[in-house]
Amino acid sequence: MAQPTKPTQPTQIPIQSKRSIHSKIPAAPTSTYPDEHWMKEAIKEAKIAESKGEVPIGAVVVYGDTIIGRGHNLRESALDGTAHAEMIAIREASTHLQAWRLLHCRLYVTLEPCPMCAGAIVQSRIHHVIYGATDPKAGCAGTLMNLLQEPRFNHTAQVTSHVLETQCGELLTNFFRDLRDKRKQQQGK
Ligand SMILES: [Zn+2]
Repeated sequence: MAQPTKPTQPTQIPIQSKRSIHSKIPAAPTSTYPDEHWMKEAIKEAKIAESKGEVPIGAVVVYGDTIIGRGHNLRESALDGTAHAEMIAIREASTHLQAWRLLHCRLYVTLEPCPMCAGAIVQSRIHHVIYGATDPKAGCAGTLMNLLQEPRFNHTAQVTSHVLETQCGELLTNFFRDLRDKRKQQQGK
């Protein structure tokens, strides 16, 4: 005859358990380069996107002095509204570290993150986000709202804005100007 099972006692997870998970992660490696150095790498990615006919937005994830994830916008070629530069760079960084937590990583992106990417940044526990141009139509890192520093979420990130803002913004304005010119030429034919 089966023994009656003991009622399960509610388990109280000690508060330090959360801390112990984090304590296994080594201390944040320091970067010896200024933010502009890494933003230039994100700009390189944006230019690759442009060469593919994509809106030029690029991102890199940096751990210490190492780029562990790169990405550029691939929305048109992938036919995927989620193929933003940040999403691609985050996935590559997680594969590199074999971890979904990117606790000591910094993400550099040429354009202020949209709500989807800001969500992915929070979910990946990225420590610091550095962006170039602000996005008045979708920016969720301070312009329309600030999802990266929402105190009700379980994670907030440091945010630095306006790094190489002119270069990052010009990539976009030039791209859209050229696009308009091409359309005008086609209409004129
Ligand atoms: Zn996005």
